[in-house]
Amino acid sequence: MSKIEEYWGKDKRFYSYNSYCMNNFETRMQKIPINAGFTCPNRDGSKGLGGCTYCNNVSFNPFYGNNSKSISLQIYEGIEFFSKKYKSQNYLAYFQAYTNTYDELTVLKQKYKEALSNRQIKGLVIGTRPDCISDELLDFLEELAKKKYVSVEYGLESIYDKTLEYINRCHTYADSVEAINRTANRGINVGVHLIFGLPQESKKMISDTAKEISKLKINSLKIHQLQIIKSTIMADQFKTKPDQFSNFSVEEYVDLVIEFLEKLRPDIVVERFISESPPNLIVNSNWGGIRTYEIVKLIEDVLVKKDTFQGKKFFIPKKKK
Ligand code: SF4
Repeated sequence: MSKIEEYWGKDKRFYSYNSYCMNNFETRMQKIPINAGFTCPNRDGSKGLGGCTYCNNVSFNPFYGNNSKSISLQIYEGIEFFSKKYKSQNYLAYFQAYTNTYDELTVLKQKYKEALSNRQIKGLVIGTRPDCISDELLDFLEELAKKKYVSVEYGLESIYDKTLEYINRCHTYADSVEAINRTANRGINVGVHLIFGLPQESKKMISDTAKEISKLKINSLKIHQLQIIKSTIMADQFKTKPDQFSNFSVEEYVDLVIEFLEKLRPDIVVERFISESPPNLIVNSNWGGIRTYEIVKLIEDVLVKKDTFQGKKFFIPKKKK
């Protein structure tokens, strides 16, 4: 068995989250999404107003992520829900909604500790913006990571500053690189998010993103297609300037993902390929309601058909002497 097969799992053509969990925890890990009542600096004026043009947090908060409930209750209900679906697994608290490092340090610590007080929670996954991580918080997370699993997930969305400006992210790609380095250098796991299909990005720009992020000290990656959600700034832009959007078909998207995977470093865990927002909120195509597992199966089938795999076109540039 080759080294890659050993950690990807036999017959796998990309490094899946399940393989990663089996390698590191010897069991399935389920993330319990939490809405801890944070806000976002890109909404309250400290960075920007109105938020990212595509953002509507309603679309990614499941029923058990309601911040009128305590973190403990959200975790309890999340575990109740997922334990019926899968028998053998452990759990991670996933601070998902808005910017989960945006508060006083004492408040952050208290919320993370509340999540970890449930004995079934084995660690934290904290979603945030790259411009919203303090050294004091990294000090705390560095110590915590010596005892528990800790991952900080940064929303990069794009590596192109022109795109970031257009979608009003109010940070640059350089901010992302800096945050990733500062976090990874503390021994904390780092994940990143990317969106495929943002306005004015060509397929080549998107697949070349793999080469760039392969240089970063990241452990995992989530990608998803652009879903334009009702009542967002982007929904208005889509209505008035639809030509600016790629609006990939399923087949185009699958091919794009495969091109991207081929250029991606083989040890980066690919946690997600698509997102599924509630169909009644989507303004652009929802691909006839195709489900996540169906897309993953399509990607796997095409990888086999093309006899290709994650990292096939990845190479380490030689250092200049
Ligand atoms: S996408 Fe994230 S960073 Fe952007 S406005 Fe929404 S919560 Fe804030």
